Amino acid sequence: MRVRAQIGMVLNLDKCIGCHTCSITCKNVWTSREGVEYAWFNNVETKPGIGYPKEWENQSRWNGGWRRTRSTGKLIPRIGNKWRVLAQVFANPDLPQIEDYYEPFNFDYQRLHNAPESKAQPTAKPYSALTGKPMDKIEWGPNWEEILGGEFEKRAKDYNFRNMEKEIYGQFENTFMMYLPRLCEHCLNPTCVASCPSGAIYKREEDGIVLIDQDKCRGWRMCISGCPYKKIYYNWQSGKSEKCIFCYPRIEAGQPTICSETCVGRIRYLGVVLYDADRIKHAASQANEQDLYQAQLDIFLDPNDPAVIAQARRDGVPESWLEAARQSPVYKMAIDWKVAFPLHPEYRTLPMVWYIPPLSSISAAVDQGQIGFDGAIPDVKSLRIPIQYLANLLTAGDTAPVQHALERMLAMRIYKRSQTVDGVTRTDVL
Ligand code: SF4
Ligand code: SF4
Repeated sequence: MRVRAQIGMVLNLDKCIGCHTCSITCKNVWTSREGVEYAWFNNVETKPGIGYPKEWENQSRWNGGWRRTRSTGKLIPRIGNKWRVLAQVFANPDLPQIEDYYEPFNFDYQRLHNAPESKAQPTAKPYSALTGKPMDKIEWGPNWEEILGGEFEKRAKDYNFRNMEKEIYGQFENTFMMYLPRLCEHCLNPTCVASCPSGAIYKREEDGIVLIDQDKCRGWRMCISGCPYKKIYYNWQSGKSEKCIFCYPRIEAGQPTICSETCVGRIRYLGVVLYDADRIKHAASQANEQDLYQAQLDIFLDPNDPAVIAQARRDGVPESWLEAARQSPVYKMAIDWKVAFPLHPEYRTLPMVWYIPPLSSISAAVDQGQIGFDGAIPDVKSLRIPIQYLANLLTAGDTAPVQHALERMLAMRIYKRSQTVDGVTRTDVL
């Protein structure tokens, strides 16, 4: 056993209101710069939808990576020696292009002051942050699905959805939506590290945060192809790759990440977990995809187990981190209570940003009396968000753990609402 400490995050999707505050504060702090205008280290997607970059979940397993299915051939600007640029394109053709993210734009606010006189009031016009040219219309954005509404069905045909999503999109009465905030997963088995030919990406020993050494990065962008979550971005100004740094300067100062601190829904929980580094290979190489969630659970170690604590001390884990692991909400929710799950465990990178599924998926069935405190969850089709859809996101398709988590959360809600607060007891406990 080799004990390592890892900082992780749990996001309670039941509480996300899709306000995008997390994305904006992250952008203001980390990517409000030339070269990464299009990059959102944290973004919030409306699901089901094709996401940002487009179709990031469409993993093409037969060729081992993400595949671009639509392109007009427009590239994110590339800089540097032309032979090196050509070599990079040749070596790594399956890269998302700027249109797969979106063409970043700004607004010309001066127009409010200097527009010629007219009957209508002047408005700020958008212009491309890449070319500086005015944009007549904006065709895509990092969370376009939220805006498109009625075009869901058309988009589902345009993009190669799996059958489940096609079925949902295709039937109006089955439509639903939920929010999915996304950031780098700071994986235990990070493919970005493995795919970098320059050895520029590393996982910090002390807390597991995955970083890119800007001095070593040569802009090959194998990490962008290699990351199944598409959470590395090429800075066309510096010619280097960049990614979420889990706000490590804040973490080192004892502060939460900026997305956690500013989250309006208070959905984000940070915590330390201990894991056995010797079990990583076993966990990532399970033959059956549906075993991957359980295999990742088996990596984690009980922070109250004396044998674990003794080994952690021998392996150099500081006392402050052991104490943090004992109080960790991430350990409680992901491992102890099993109400939080990894995003797409079938990608086998052992992600460390976990999600509590939205209880709203069953609340309509509860309201209609179809499900009670001890009742089984009814047929998938009668639920607002099909459990199979949540399982496809969180447990490689295994519905049983998701159903168990929803039932636990429902039981907790019933219990909490039955409590007396300031002399008032709620009777409508559901
Ligand atoms: Fe690397 Fe992608 Fe995992 Fe982040 S999510 S650690 S970029 S493989
Ligand atoms: Fe969701 Fe919080 Fe981000 Fe708002 S700030 S979109 S509630 S994660």
